Formats: sequence, structure tokens, C-alpha cells
Amino acid sequence: MATDAAFPEPVAARGAALDVLVSGASVAGPVTAYWLHRAGHHVTVVEQSPPRRRPGGHAVDLFTPAMDVIERMGVLEAVQDRGTGIERMTVRREHTRRDVTIDMTRLMSALSDRHVEILRDDLGAILYDATRADVEYVFGDRISGLTDDGVATFEHAPARRFDLVIGADGLHSGVRGLAFGAETEYSRWLGGYIAVASIPRDRHLAGHMTTLLGVNRMVGLYSARHMTDARAFFLFRPGAELAYDHRDVPRQKQLLREAFGDLDGEVPRLLDEVDRAPAFYFDAITQLAMDHWTRGRVALVGDAGYCPGPAVGGSTSLAVVGAYTLAGELAEAGSDPAIAYPAYEAAMRDYVQRSRGFATTMARRLVPGTRAGAWMLIAGTSLLTHLPTALGRRLVALGSGDLGLHESIEVRDYPALAP
Ligand SMILES: Cc1cc2nc3c(=O)[nH]c(=O)nc-3n(C[C@H](O)[C@H](O)[C@H](O)COP(=O)(O)OP(=O)(O)OC[C@H]3O[C@@H](n4cnc5c(N)ncnc54)[C@H](O)[C@@H]3O)c2cc1C
Repeated sequence: MATDAAFPEPVAARGAALDVLVSGASVAGPVTAYWLHRAGHHVTVVEQSPPRRRPGGHAVDLFTPAMDVIERMGVLEAVQDRGTGIERMTVRREHTRRDVTIDMTRLMSALSDRHVEILRDDLGAILYDATRADVEYVFGDRISGLTDDGVATFEHAPARRFDLVIGADGLHSGVRGLAFGAETEYSRWLGGYIAVASIPRDRHLAGHMTTLLGVNRMVGLYSARHMTDARAFFLFRPGAELAYDHRDVPRQKQLLREAFGDLDGEVPRLLDEVDRAPAFYFDAITQLAMDHWTRGRVALVGDAGYCPGPAVGGSTSLAVVGAYTLAGELAEAGSDPAIAYPAYEAAMRDYVQRSRGFATTMARRLVPGTRAGAWMLIAGTSLLTHLPTALGRRLVALGSGDLGLHESIEVRDYPALAP
């Protein structure tokens, strides 16, 4: 696809219903589809994976602004009911024997008015159910090419023409690759790696997270109340970028052993389970640093456009708010992307930029580089849970490095999206 930012001619008459193709059916894709349908457009969502049948993925966070969007979509109860219900976290520092227990309910109420933690795939399933009757979903396929005038070719389905194409296909977006070029031009490594594996739940209690915090590394285990398995997760900062192929799972598991293999307690068992785990995720914690998320007929939304870093930047809330904002600006502009796309970028810019700063700081703070830093992280977190909520919030506001960011975003009302 050519790289013109401008539209040579209007894509449709003012206020017309558009044919919109969305790539990705996780979080940003279905939220975009929901609101575009509400505005009267015909939406097709193409997703590379088959439809999901059981809960998978990792836990993600929805903060107040994203929950406001979720409520406006009529799925508030479903999302709250499906929350992970993790109420307690025990943290131990490497080379110590003492567990510190953190009351997660109190911690989150010091940070947010209506936070919900939910498995990404549970959230995706709820959003899919909320849109499946009105939106055409195509699973097991991908866009293979895009032309300037909106013709999309697919790996399996026949080619079709669309007025707009939305890339909601995550950090390694295919649409971004087609419209904006190679990912390496826009991404920067935040110094860490993350791995998550599905392992048997055994004795591990639902609603409980256990973590071991070392210098430049953290390993943990959790399970949600409705899960029959558990998630083992690993965060580490190796000091320099690692050499591996993203398809080479045995090598990735070997890198985990190199980073965590000297730890005792539960860790050797977790590493053995990871070796056997059928569902395993490993990736660098990278941040996208693009200045624009639209080009020609294409707009990027969620992680595809502005991932501040997986697991460190509150990117799920950013994705939900971004998807709603894109559809809202398009509705306000009478379906004219030449007006709506710049307005969407302007509306999201401050939130995106602050999320980048937040994620860069969190990537360092979550996995401290010194033993004193690890001690301070645990002591500070524990302190927050022992203070009255109002005082805790004041402390967060004072010393946070923008910890209140995800609460402070205003979700605009778009009259054109009203039911
Ligand atoms: C290990 C891990 C831990 C995380 N922890 C947190 C957390 O604690 N809190 C938080 O808020 N966020 C967390 N995140 C980030 C969160 O998962 C994302 O921000 C959120 O899922 C973004 O939603 P999205 O829809 O933009 O992208 P994604 O959820 O990544 O979805 C992209 C979708 O597009 C599909 N897709 C990809 N390529 C193509 C293609 N070429 N064609 C068609 N379909 C395609 C994928 O299959 C997927 O369904 C974490 C991420 C990871 C990886």
C-alpha cells in the first residue's frame, strides 16, 4: 500500500455507511467493531486464530476509563463476573525466607475506582459475544495485501474492497507491516523479557498469586477462580538483548532456564512444567514509538498502533479507550476519515505519550536491579495496602511516576454514538 497520508477523494458520501475491515479479534478489534456497527457501518473482522473454546492468555487490567467504555457497551456485569478474583499476593525476596502478603483488593482500590483484572481471552470472548450477531467474523485467515483504493487480499478468502481498514492485530501487527513498514523501525526494547505458560493447577489456590522477586528477575504463579489450570510467569532483565528466533520455542525455554535455573523452592518444578507446557508465550518487552497511527485508509488501534510495552503499561485500557475514540471521531466527522483520523490521533496523543513514559518507568521498577530496590518495591506496595484509601491515593499521586495515569483519562461523549 502507498504511503500517502491524504485522501485524494472522499471515501464515501458524508454520513454514509462504510464497509470496514478490522484485523484482529482480541480486545481492540471487537471494541472497534462494536462502536462502528453502532454508528451504522458494515464491519468484517478477520482473525488469524480459530475461535477460542476455553479461557487462555494472561491477566490484563481494565481501569476506570476502560470500564466506562465497557459499561456503555452493556457488558459491565459479564466483565465483572469473569474477573480473576485474585485477592491476595505473597511476595518473597530471593535468598530470604519471609513471605510478605499483599491485599490486592486494597492495593487496587488505592489505585483505581473500578479496576477489574480479567484473562485477556475471557475479555475477548465477552466482546466477541457482544458483537457476533452484528459483525461478520472470519477466523483462521489474514490480510495478505492492501491497495491504495482499499482492496484487501487474504490468505484464504477471496479479495474484497473496503472503505477503511483497521489494524487491531496487536504488537506484531500485520496491517502495520503492510501500511507502515517493518516493525524494527518503530519499536524499542525496554530492557526486559516476559514469558507465560499454562501449567497444571495442582495445590495452587485460585484467587492467589505467589511471586519470587530477585535482582533483575521475577517469577510467579496465579490462577483465576474459574480456571482449571494456572499461569506461571517470568519477567527478567538480562542486561543485553537475547538472540533467538520467535518461532524457536525450545530455545526460548532454554533462555528461561539460563535466567532462572539457579533459583530454589518452587522454581525448578515450575521450569519443568514450562518444559511440558503446550501453551507458552515468550517475547521481548518492546514499545512502539510511532508518531502517527493512520495512513490513507488505514488506522491502527490498540497494541498495533501504540503498545507502550506488554505487561508494564496498562495497554489493555489504552486499547479499549483508543478503539472507542476512533469510532467516535469517525461518527462525529460524518464518516469522513480525512477529518476523523487526525482527530483520533490528536485525541489519543497525550494518553499514548504518557503511557510510554509510564511503561518505561514500570519496566525498571517492577523488576528492580538491586536488592535494596526489591526490598523497597515490596515495602512500598505493602504500605499502600495498610493506609486508608484516601491517604494511599495521595501517596500514589505524589510519588508515583504517573501511577494515576490510567484513572485520569477522560472518556469523551460522542453524541453520534448514542444508542
Ligand atoms: C504476557 C503478557 C502480559 C500482559 N499483561 C498485561 C497486564 O497485566 N495488564 C494489561 O493491561 N495488559 C497486559 N498485557 C497487554 C495486553 O494483552 C494487550 O495490551 C491487549 O491484549 C491489547 O489488545 P489488542 O486487541 O490491541 O491486541 P492483542 O490482544 O494482542 O490482539 C491481537 C489480535 O490480533 C490477532 N492477529 C495478530 N496478527 C494478525 C494478523 N496478521 N491477521 C489477523 N489477526 C491477527 C491475534 O491473534 C489477536 O487475536 C500483557 C501482554 C502480554 C503479552
